Amino acid sequence: MEVLRKGLTGVSSLVQRSLVIGRGTASLSATRDLLEQELEGIRDAGTFKSERVITSRQGSSIRVQGQSSNILNFCANNYLGLSGHPEVIEAGKKALETHGAGLSSVRFICGTQDIHKDLEAKIAKFHGKEDAILYISCFDANAGIFEVLLSPEDAAISDELNHASIIDGIRLCKAQRYRYKHRDLKDLESQLQATQKLRQRLIITDGVFSMDGNVAPLPDICDLADKFKAMVFVDECHATGFFGKTGRGTEEYFKLNNRVDIINSTLGKALGGAAGGYTTGPKQLIDLLRQRSRPYLFSNTLPPPVVACASKALDLIMANTDLPQKVLTNTSRFRTRMMDAGFNVAGDPEHPICPVMLGDARLASTFADQMLDRGIYVIGFSFPVVPKGKARIRVQISASHSEQDIDRAVDAFIEIGRKLNVVHAEGKKTASVN
Ligand SMILES: *Cc1c(COP(=O)(O)O)cnc(C)c1O
Repeated sequence: MEVLRKGLTGVSSLVQRSLVIGRGTASLSATRDLLEQELEGIRDAGTFKSERVITSRQGSSIRVQGQSSNILNFCANNYLGLSGHPEVIEAGKKALETHGAGLSSVRFICGTQDIHKDLEAKIAKFHGKEDAILYISCFDANAGIFEVLLSPEDAAISDELNHASIIDGIRLCKAQRYRYKHRDLKDLESQLQATQKLRQRLIITDGVFSMDGNVAPLPDICDLADKFKAMVFVDECHATGFFGKTGRGTEEYFKLNNRVDIINSTLGKALGGAAGGYTTGPKQLIDLLRQRSRPYLFSNTLPPPVVACASKALDLIMANTDLPQKVLTNTSRFRTRMMDAGFNVAGDPEHPICPVMLGDARLASTFADQMLDRGIYVIGFSFPVVPKGKARIRVQISASHSEQDIDRAVDAFIEIGRKLNVVHAEGKKTASVN
């Protein structure tokens, strides 16, 4: 995302420059040429993203255009398998009947229905916070919050690898900006020290970092926040619903018992997977966001069927703590078998994001293609999404995978891994990659 945005900024400045110096005109054909050059650059860099077309519902088994048989999906954020859950779909259909397709309004004009208020109350209860506010996406929740909460006399202290939407949200706010090294408590502490004179300090981190599947050191972060009288904000998109014993996320995983002040998260991953995001936290913050947050004030209400799907997903999670347990069991099975086979699987041992480290970018992309030929959908990630030389295949485990699904994926990894000389038959790595 970051890279794409930078790319586009690059184009617009190119267009502006050619206008200023009078070379060419602002005609569409000149712009087309510039855009084409930019696209060519992305292709040359090997970072062009093509999109595969799915012709079924999202799920552990999907149909993909161009593939003759069903494919096992190991790259969705559908951690609990609720995107295609019959009760979730039924709830969406019912709401479509009772509450319509949409509100044709923002919330404060005539866009608030009973189901929006119910879902906000349910989210707050789920996280044990005072109140919650819905957005069209978590991207919007992150874009809206910092500008409302922080002023020039405050500091935003952010992990350098936070999600693109957090980076954009911080850019929009007028607070003094500090970035600490990824999960580095020493660096965080020195920035808390340096900002002691400021009015409010907000520590900002992803709960789980999606490229590495590793977890923020939240207990220590909360200790530092106490020591320096700072607040803690956590983006829980890759934790809400499935991480921690009953799916309450990173806070629960570390048994922090409500020590995180503000949580932003998404309804577009484990919670039904449709769309939507939220902020949950202190009542006064939520009240003020309703008055001031720009993506909330100036963008349409979340559609009723989407609200109902997320609401049902939360009901299912709150009624059934087996779901997070199933994700964990599947994750352990995958990680254990892969490591026994000699693969280097990074990330937190209990988190379903399992980055299979391969090192070389071309190897990662060849590997992923061959996996698809064997009916397993996984994606290779390489620079600039991850650092150079740290290319990987990111596997995402879901509660909806069966043991056989997991085994089929591991078997394919082993078969291709041996062929491509990533692992040996005895289960030893050939090359050491970290
Ligand atoms: C996915 C994600 C988002 C964006 O969520 P949407 O609801 O899809 O906009 C924000 N932050 C993190 C950490 C994410 O992983």
